[in-house]
Amino acid sequence: MVTRVINMITHVTQLMTGRGNFESYLYGIGRWELPECMYCDARDTVEHRLFHCSEWEEYRGRAGISGLEPENLTAYMLNSEDNWRAVEEFARATHRAKEAEDRRKDF
Ligand SMILES: [Zn+2]
Repeated sequence: MVTRVINMITHVTQLMTGRGNFESYLYGIGRWELPECMYCDARDTVEHRLFHCSEWEEYRGRAGISGLEPENLTAYMLNSEDNWRAVEEFARATHRAKEAEDRRKDF
């Protein structure tokens, strides 16, 4: 249970700070070759993944957060526990999918 809570906090923290499994961040600290998204030509930033990249639209839909804008993300999350958990779910699911894709590419 404690590990699960720590993982949830970690995923949301990475999403809110950009310091996580984002190519632009990893590139900036010398841990990835390119700052671009692996699915399109845009820089892989939190904003790109959370709001714009078409690759992650299915995940936005599943979490029920399609249509969010950077300007209303914080208000949306603070409006209800369900909203917070929806963003948390998006962060967790995309983090796992991205890690699986990274592992697949390493082979
Ligand atoms: Zn993209």
